[in-house]
Amino acid sequence: MRLILMGPPGSGKGTQAAFISRELEIPHISTGDMFRKAISDSTPLGSKAKEYLDSGRLVPDEITIGIVKERLAESDCRQGFLLDGFPRTVAQAEALDEILKGMNIELDAVIDIQVPREEILKRLTGRRMCRECGASYHVVFSPPAEAGCCDKCGGELYQRQDDTEETINKRLDVYHEQTQPLVDYYARQGLLKNINGNQEIQQVLKDIGESLGRSLV
Ligand code: ADP
Ligand code: AMP
Repeated sequence: MRLILMGPPGSGKGTQAAFISRELEIPHISTGDMFRKAISDSTPLGSKAKEYLDSGRLVPDEITIGIVKERLAESDCRQGFLLDGFPRTVAQAEALDEILKGMNIELDAVIDIQVPREEILKRLTGRRMCRECGASYHVVFSPPAEAGCCDKCGGELYQRQDDTEETINKRLDVYHEQTQPLVDYYARQGLLKNINGNQEIQQVLKDIGESLGRSLV
């Protein structure tokens, strides 16, 4: 399947993507993870992206579209893919349509996970990420078996630099201004699946599966 996961920062995209990509055997493509890796590897892409991630603004479209185009051309995307955090602007969505047209393929669905703002603040201030595999935890809602240590790979857990209250608020404003319009964009294409993300992780997963006509749990 060729899927997009949408929703504000902290709505649970990364958490759900890990389950969906494993169950459907499709790669999880997170532009945020790609930028964080480039920053930690000190690549030229990382040095361009850093100031945007640190301030909660979007990396310019031409940079972001370029890395997604390259990634979608890789062989593991032939059987499908799950995009997480891309597209985030109308220009990115239009570019994606062109890329897919050039590859002669179409999207199957766009999953929009909705969560109220107060809940998002609680989630993001308690989020911890694995430095090695990018898995997402929460100190209260989804704690690892051993504090500070990833259940999946044993990597060190850390708090993202942009998960401070000030930057979270900025990212939510950016989401409402620049990304929210994509909900209508995909609704018009008949691809949109609305999911209530303000439920237990497994229930959200079950609802996503039902919306796709597939069992994911
Ligand atoms: P996103 O990728 O959309 O930014 P994450 O998947 O990283 O969001 O989730 C943000 C935080 O909320 C993480 O700490 C995660 O463990 C937690 N979380 C995710 N889904 C739920 C849920 N359904 N209920 C409670 N906490 C959740
Ligand atoms: P995320 O991990 O999805 O929360 O993204 C973290 C940060 O990476 C965002 O705040 C942006 O600075 C940047 N980013 C991720 N995806 C995109 C995108 N599609 N377009 C522009 N910037 C992005």
